[in-house]
Amino acid sequence: MAPKRLGLFSLIIVLIAIFSGPTRGLEKSDYKQITLVPNEMGEVMVLEYHLIGRPESDWRRTPENFRRDLEELYQNGYYPINLRDLVGPELDIPKGKTPVVLTFDDSSIGQFRLIPEGNGWKIDPESAVGIMIEFSKKHKDFPARGTFFVLPAIKPGLRLFGQEEYIKTKLEFLQENGFEIGNHTYYHQNLGKAEPEEVRRQLAFAQKEIQRYLPNYKMTSLSLPFGVWPKQKELAYNGAYEGYSYDHNAIVLVGFGPAPSPYSRKFQPLAIPRIQAGDTPWGPGAHIKRYQKKPELRFVSDGYPKTVSVPVKEKEDFQPRKGLRPRLIKMP
Ligand SMILES: [Zn+2]
Repeated sequence: MAPKRLGLFSLIIVLIAIFSGPTRGLEKSDYKQITLVPNEMGEVMVLEYHLIGRPESDWRRTPENFRRDLEELYQNGYYPINLRDLVGPELDIPKGKTPVVLTFDDSSIGQFRLIPEGNGWKIDPESAVGIMIEFSKKHKDFPARGTFFVLPAIKPGLRLFGQEEYIKTKLEFLQENGFEIGNHTYYHQNLGKAEPEEVRRQLAFAQKEIQRYLPNYKMTSLSLPFGVWPKQKELAYNGAYEGYSYDHNAIVLVGFGPAPSPYSRKFQPLAIPRIQAGDTPWGPGAHIKRYQKKPELRFVSDGYPKTVSVPVKEKEDFQPRKGLRPRLIKMP
């Protein structure tokens, strides 16, 4: 289900990371002291997770490491939101915090497992949803949010988080508890190899299948399988098949790097880059260290959803948006 190994581009990034210094820099006690100046033109990280389980590998994060990722984000002033919020009309983030989006592809069981208990069930505390919820209970200023790009029509036992008997329960739980469910096609079709009609069928039938469980749910975010576009790109944006329609206003790619601020002219909501989870020189931890050294690069909220804090020297890059007022600031 995972894309092929990253090629030449990743090698270049590794070299940049190696020559730009060590990736393990400041101690926790140092970065707690940093007071960040609001800058809503800075970068945002959209993280990309696949399997959650053991052992750790290229496309698998262990529960321990996932918990450590949350801890590191929390300690460094990040604040989880769903992908749909990143492209929403406005961003509502507490002052001084940096939004971060956690995304999960392929709806495997390690992301969300339920364990029968008495007449009911409990959430496996070692699954991603269990870990996020437990963490947010401990830290009230770090909500449990994330976007799950699900596969509704791969084999039973694998599709929609693996436990057939709990599919409806899990999807309802995600919806009711503030998580987002996103489109990842009907069964992980490489859209670059599909005819236009098949592209529309894959995207519309994914929507149809989710609505069997959540009748009014509209998926507005899409993760392209293998990061591959259909030959006619616009088919990924919106369309219909046999009376079922889809309309995406956020599309994520596989890799590679932070996203520009959603208020920047450079931001493309229909082609948002992601950062693959893992302890690599191009992973989230490396970027967190980079932002410790250069905090002026990261998005920092001013706490006012209707106001966008724009550094003077970036005012040309601000993309005006109805209902939002820019506020020019001088960076130190
Ligand atoms: Zn996938």
